[in-house]
Amino acid sequence: MRARLDEIVASALQQGSAVPAFTCYDFTTAMAVVSAAEESGRGVILLVAPKTAATPNGLRLITALRGLADAAAVPVSVQLDHASDLDVILAAVAAGADSVLADGSSLPYEDNIALVRQVRAELTARGRADVVLEAELGGLAGDEDRAFGEGAEGDAAGNDSIGLTDSAQVEDFVAQTGAQLLAVAVGNVHGKYKGKPELRWEVLQDIAVRTHIPLVLHGASGIPGEELVKAPAMNVGKVNFNTELRTGVLSTLETETAAHRADGENLQGLLARWNDSAKDFAASALAMLTR
Ligand SMILES: [Zn+2]
Repeated sequence: MRARLDEIVASALQQGSAVPAFTCYDFTTAMAVVSAAEESGRGVILLVAPKTAATPNGLRLITALRGLADAAAVPVSVQLDHASDLDVILAAVAAGADSVLADGSSLPYEDNIALVRQVRAELTARGRADVVLEAELGGLAGDEDRAFGEGAEGDAAGNDSIGLTDSAQVEDFVAQTGAQLLAVAVGNVHGKYKGKPELRWEVLQDIAVRTHIPLVLHGASGIPGEELVKAPAMNVGKVNFNTELRTGVLSTLETETAAHRADGENLQGLLARWNDSAKDFAASALAMLTR
């Protein structure tokens, strides 16, 4: 069943768990994620990337994911991820997204606040005050949709050049934006980590005591499970996964495509392997974050 993102997160936190959120560029992956959630009996978040949403068929994907959420046996929410373009946000909400990350984290502090407030005002003016807003404070390095190996051209930043969330701004930022969830930068990055990820737990702890709203960890791919399980205790109620899911699906396609081509151009069979790969990853993330 479709459920509000903040309610899915709150109920997970009450049980000492966090909810995984998975970027879905396609319907096969989304079906696999929902299947894994249904088998685990846990709620889950389907994320749509802004570059996906910015196309006419991207909006149709959102509508399809919304239908998947409605039909699911567990609570599912569809969120537009990392969006700063108001037109894209409004179109995505109209298409079926029930939550948005209004992301002004690359903007100056006051402009970040202004963006979230504007998104809230525009949604309210359209009778959509029910849309749950996540905001982001601090700059996350890396590219959400593409991951590059160490030293490769295009890699946005190393782990050492990240703008950490300034905990001193948190209280004011949450009060001024009215954000319902807060994405933080505490050593997490989008894409692949250079070397071992070093999460700054002391920064996360400092943020957690300054706001009551749930925190969100983006760029969880590559952070060891034994680290991630500590996050709900610091009010991290949602953890976003993308890169590892893509890695798994791409590896599966790489090893399975030739055999399925030889097997009578068996696209159906290949999609089943795609499903298995995405579902296995989602199941492991669900298990990792669940108490
Ligand atoms: Zn992200």
